[in-house]
Amino acid sequence: MATTTQALERGAFIDGELQPIGADTLEIRNPGTGELVGHATASDAATVDAAVRAAQAAFGDWSRRGLAERGALLVRAAHAFEAHVDDLMPGLVAEQGKTLREARIELTKAADTLLHYGELGRAVRGASVHGLAAGVEGRVLRRPLGVVGAIVPWNFPTTLLCNKLGPALLTGNTVVAKPADTTPFTTLALAEILAEAGLPPGVFNVVPGTGAVAGEALVTHPLVRKVAFTGSTPTGARVMALAAQGIKRVTLELGGSDPMIICDDADLKAAASAAAMGRFYNCGQACLAIKRVYVFDSVADGVIEAIADKARKLRLGLGHVEGSQIGPLHTERQRALLERQIAESGGEVLAGGGRPDDPALAGGWFHEPTVVLEPAHDSPMAQEEVFGPALPIWRVRDLDEAIERANDSPFGLGSSIWTRDLDRAQRAAAELECGYTWVNSPTKVYDELPFGGVKQSGVGKEHGFEVLDSYTDLKSVVVKSG
Ligand code: NAD
Repeated sequence: MATTTQALERGAFIDGELQPIGADTLEIRNPGTGELVGHATASDAATVDAAVRAAQAAFGDWSRRGLAERGALLVRAAHAFEAHVDDLMPGLVAEQGKTLREARIELTKAADTLLHYGELGRAVRGASVHGLAAGVEGRVLRRPLGVVGAIVPWNFPTTLLCNKLGPALLTGNTVVAKPADTTPFTTLALAEILAEAGLPPGVFNVVPGTGAVAGEALVTHPLVRKVAFTGSTPTGARVMALAAQGIKRVTLELGGSDPMIICDDADLKAAASAAAMGRFYNCGQACLAIKRVYVFDSVADGVIEAIADKARKLRLGLGHVEGSQIGPLHTERQRALLERQIAESGGEVLAGGGRPDDPALAGGWFHEPTVVLEPAHDSPMAQEEVFGPALPIWRVRDLDEAIERANDSPFGLGSSIWTRDLDRAQRAAAELECGYTWVNSPTKVYDELPFGGVKQSGVGKEHGFEVLDSYTDLKSVVVKSG
């Protein structure tokens, strides 16, 4: 994988081979510097069709292999991926903009997710019912679906892909992935690594391209039986509507606006650290990120100042420079959106609020880590997803008000509460309308637990054993003996 100094030229990855670059290309630029990273094929419908057909051709053999064999291959692939983390880091930083530390965390986590599903190959079991009637036995078979289209955004190109790739491949499906049109290179490099590690040709294919052309060609392709989508809520709605025409399965992991509640009995220092980390990690461009804080009035002053202080101290810098703690936004559009949301929301800006004045950062889409106190409750910072480094904080009287405000959002992805009172924690877990509630914990996702949003944040689950249901059909078989 090249760095920013060596422009890349890459085609799609189909049937185990990197294809020559096509006539139509995506131009990829470094979000921190504006430098050219390279070009990748902007796949058209014919390229997507070739990838889907390769996946369909590979499906028969792959699906007939045993779970243990597919699991073992995934384990081998995961170890090969892990061994390449250092090589992949500079390329991920160059195309995505994140810091080297964040790139290492992402890539290591993605490899670990593949390992998790590989190892699950020895643990998955089906179900059976003995004695449905005299001499009659029932079995429930878990059958793979076929070709899965995996569509992912640019904020975590590899983890969001491996959340799909691991369970889809383990259960016997084959995959055609479409990375975001601004982050194709790490995904293509990963496909080469996994093929070298022994994944058979056609089992995992990658079609770089735009959502409108490659994305829609994949969703509507008649041989694609399931679409696993991560991205924004409006695109998710479009994908769901297109998939409905072919009665296809969909999993939608969409936008979020996760509330964090800080009670008066919490470990306030730990809560302030978790708020800053949960908001500013990956330059605030994470679906599960702390996007709204509600703090009890009686302890608010100290907590607000501690969070603002952490925001002021974060070192903004180019992703590839050691010691940078927060990189640029991914695109000019993302920064303009963030600036509009801050400008239209009102409230008191306690930290940041604008672009940095460091001339070394003038070529990228940087924005200072920002904390805003009490923006209006119907403003963009309260009601829209803020996908960048800006955190609104509101004071609340008590838990009733905190839960009511937290639920007053179209989204329902994650949430967190900080309290030493078990009753308060249990109540928040029961009443917050979302797919995850962390209690006194940083907002970390575990492969062992099911994850997926409610309301406008999505449909279906990833992670956990539960994800296996999204990639398989359960078929009943009745066997009569005698
Ligand atoms: P996006 O919806 O614009 O794009 C996501 C992917 O969909 C890209 O690959 C894009 O090319 C493709 N796409 C776009 N239009 C398409 C179409 N008509 N048909 C098929 N594919 C199409 O999202 P984004 O702005 O790039 O990503 C950020 C969003 O993703 C945020 O809202 C964030 O919260 C969300 N996200 C959610 C999760 C989760 O697990 N819930 C995780 C990460 C990001």
